[in-house]
Amino acid sequence: VGTRFQWRHEHASFDPNPNSPAEEPKPESISVFVSFLLGLSCHPLHRIANQATMSVESAMAGLQIGERPKGSSTGEPPKEGERKYLIGGNWKCNGTVESAKAIIKTFNEAGPIPANCEVAIGAPFLHIGLCLSELRDDIEVSAQNCGLNEKPGAYTGEICASQLVDAGCTWVIIGHSERREGFGMAGEDSELVAKKVKVALDAGLKVMFAIGEKKEEREAGVTMDVCASQLAPAAKILSEDDWAKVAIAYEPVWAIGTGLTATPEMAQETHAGIRKWMAENVSEAVAKAIRIQYGGSMKGANAKDLLAQPDIDGGLIGGASLKADFFNVINGCPQ
Ligand code: PEP
Repeated sequence: VGTRFQWRHEHASFDPNPNSPAEEPKPESISVFVSFLLGLSCHPLHRIANQATMSVESAMAGLQIGERPKGSSTGEPPKEGERKYLIGGNWKCNGTVESAKAIIKTFNEAGPIPANCEVAIGAPFLHIGLCLSELRDDIEVSAQNCGLNEKPGAYTGEICASQLVDAGCTWVIIGHSERREGFGMAGEDSELVAKKVKVALDAGLKVMFAIGEKKEEREAGVTMDVCASQLAPAAKILSEDDWAKVAIAYEPVWAIGTGLTATPEMAQETHAGIRKWMAENVSEAVAKAIRIQYGGSMKGANAKDLLAQPDIDGGLIGGASLKADFFNVINGCPQ
């Protein structure tokens, strides 16, 4: 409870206060929301704008197709055969249109991104349209989940991978431990996670494929067995070409959102174990090329030491991706 309170306290600006009086919806918020509903396509604009009893002009103001602010880069790109770092942000189910706009502005003004580092933000579905219109163009936009359904259709409440591609997303996070656990609903098992990874790849997305052990599993000494059991169903159905579009996000569950971080040595040991497993169960080439991100209370203060490890190729960042500190993580990538 203490940890949860601490987290809420730190991210208070992203938590709408349930006791405060309801605010009038802002026209710009409606516009952004409609832009996402439209899948960034102009054709149904008149119809949907009319349904929302708002002007076409105000709906258009939220689209801003092709007008994302330009990013900037520094340093050298990775050399032939080197892995490019991947820093993913996971905003989870946090934020409002207003707070998302504020953090986008912070990122847009945060200076250059190292040329040996790829960056993606996993936004809530509702804020994806906003990122795709306002976020600097050198930060890719990711979803945090997608449906198992290959095509759009009668799947009430679901968002499918091809819709994410259509809207402009390039990444999706699949298999996050919170979704595996289920937060009050049925969780996702490793077979389902593997199928979703395949559906997402087939639709054209890149996947941050999350795995990791719970505290009691680490204490029982079965960390690698757990990671292997989570990877195995995917290894059965993914081709080598598929794996080229996958990054494995190793996230010890006990380190997520708790402030506890694996030491760089602990994380390196597991990352090396995962790479060895990939070599033995997929191929040497895939094991050498695949990026393995670390996730679990990673922030500016600990990123540099983690990223200095030979098998840590990036991070998946929750809490710190909601703050300017995200750029300290990005700038922690070795140059
Ligand atoms: C996550 O959400 O994947 C995560 C690692 O969260 P945090 O950085 O807050 O521990």
